Amino acid sequence: MSEKKAVLLDRDGTLIVDMVYLNDPERIEYLPGVFEALRLLRDHEYVFCVATNQSGVARGIVDVRNLDEIHRRIQAKFCSEGVDILSFHSAPYMTSFDHPMRKPNAGMLLEAARWHGVDLAASWMVGDRMTDVEAGHRAGCRSALVGVMESPENFHHFRPPEVHAPNLLDVAREIVARS
Ligand SMILES: [Mg+2]
Repeated sequence: MSEKKAVLLDRDGTLIVDMVYLNDPERIEYLPGVFEALRLLRDHEYVFCVATNQSGVARGIVDVRNLDEIHRRIQAKFCSEGVDILSFHSAPYMTSFDHPMRKPNAGMLLEAARWHGVDLAASWMVGDRMTDVEAGHRAGCRSALVGVMESPENFHHFRPPEVHAPNLLDVAREIVARS
């Protein structure tokens, strides 16, 4: 069986508006163009997983039952838009804790690859933070930075992203162009 190629996605600031410790499933807001972006990538044989740091769980601000419900709703919404997100991986650890599952470490990406038979060298990590970019590189993927939250120049200790674009649809077009 040939291995799949994946686009591994950050959640907050990449697929949905970053509410900072989102704990209410009613407050999910999708960013512009995200459904079109993932349909374009789907049409080029990419599969999708989400990898999200959730230190709000360790802080007691985010309830894991709400986190599960938020992910269930996001998955259902993308499904209704024709996009199948295979799995959600979350790292409920403190920012100060260098846990192997917490980005910029690659644990969640490696887990997603193991679960679904993903060829990481043919895959991409996409996120709005340089920790997402670095996690992708540590997993052996190429990485794309979305939006204007961070400038790669400010992160000399991390390798810069292969793609940097203002929104997910532009990122998707770049990934397709480089596939
Ligand atoms: Mg983010």
